[in-house]
Amino acid sequence: MKKTIVITGAGGVLCSTLAKALAKKGHKIAVLDLNLEVAEQVASEINNEGGKAIGILANVLEKESLEMAKMKVNKILGSCDILINGAGGNHPFGTTSNPFLQVEDLRNKTEGFKTFFDLDPSGIQFVFNLNFIGTLLPTQIFAQDMVGREGCSILNISSMNAFTPLTKIPAYSGAKAAVSNFTQWLAVHFSKVGIRVNALAPGFFLTEQNRTLLTNPDGSLTKRGQQIIDQTPMGRYGKPDDLISTTLYLCDDASSFVTGVVIPIDGGFAAYSGV
Ligand code: NAD
Repeated sequence: MKKTIVITGAGGVLCSTLAKALAKKGHKIAVLDLNLEVAEQVASEINNEGGKAIGILANVLEKESLEMAKMKVNKILGSCDILINGAGGNHPFGTTSNPFLQVEDLRNKTEGFKTFFDLDPSGIQFVFNLNFIGTLLPTQIFAQDMVGREGCSILNISSMNAFTPLTKIPAYSGAKAAVSNFTQWLAVHFSKVGIRVNALAPGFFLTEQNRTLLTNPDGSLTKRGQQIIDQTPMGRYGKPDDLISTTLYLCDDASSFVTGVVIPIDGGFAAYSGV
C-alpha cells in the first residue's frame, strides 16, 4: 500500500537517503527540515526522478511550526501514515575535550580545553531537546492522523551510543538513550490504536557533522576514527544506503507484528567486546 510519509531532518545526509528510497517505492514524502532550502532540494530531486514529494519548513522544537507543516501535508499529500523522526544531532557544548578525566587536566588548563566540570548546561539542554523533545513533539502532532487507522507506524532514529555511551559525548549519548527508551514506551502506549513504533540505532556513518572528528584533512583517519574502525568487526564506516532495507521493512506491513524494537545497524560494533 502506498503511504504518506513525513520525515523530519530529511534535508540531512541520512534521512534524505531514506526519503529518496521510500519515494522510489511509490510513497508520497513530506520532506521536513529547519533548512527550507535543503528540504526543497531533496523534494525536487525526488520529483525529478518521478516520485512525489514536498519540501516543508518545520522546527521539531516548535509545536506551531509542526502544526503548520501538518496542515500543508494533509492538504497536499493527505493524512500522515508514517512518521520518521530523523532530526537530531550533537553540540560541542555538550562534549568534553578528553575521553578520560586526568588530574593534570585540572592543574594545567589551557584555553578552550573542556573537562566534565566545564560542560555548559545550555549545551546539554540543546542536545536533549533536539533529540528527545524533537522526537516527542512531531509524534504528538502527526500521530493524531494515525490513531485507529491500519498500517501506520513511527520510526525513531536512536544511535549506537544509546546502548553503551561513547566517551566525550554525555549529552548526545543520554539523549539517544532517552529516544530508545521512549520508543519502547510509545510502542506499548500506542499498541491498542494500531500504531507501531520502532527505531534504528545507526553505528558510525561518515557525515559532514563528524567528518573532522573522524578524518584528517588528507582523508586519513584520526585517532578516534581509527578506534572506531578497530572496534567495528566489519571494518568500515556505515554508508547511508546501509539504512535503507531496515527502514523499508519497518515502514512496511511485512513488519506488522514488530513494535518496540531498536535495531542496531553498526557492522557488529555493539556485539563486539574488543577482545
Ligand atoms: P544531518 O546533520 O546531516 O541531518 C540533520 C538534519 O536535521 C539537518 O538537515 C538539519 O537542518 C535538521 N535539523 C536540525 N535541527 C532541526 C530542527 N530543530 N527541526 C527540524 N530539522 C532540524 O545528520 P545525519 O547524520 O543525517 O543524522 C540524522 C539522524 O541520525 C540524527 O538523529 C542523528 O542523531 C542520527 N544518527 C547519525 C549518525 C551518524 O553517524 N551520522 C549515527 C547515529 C545516529
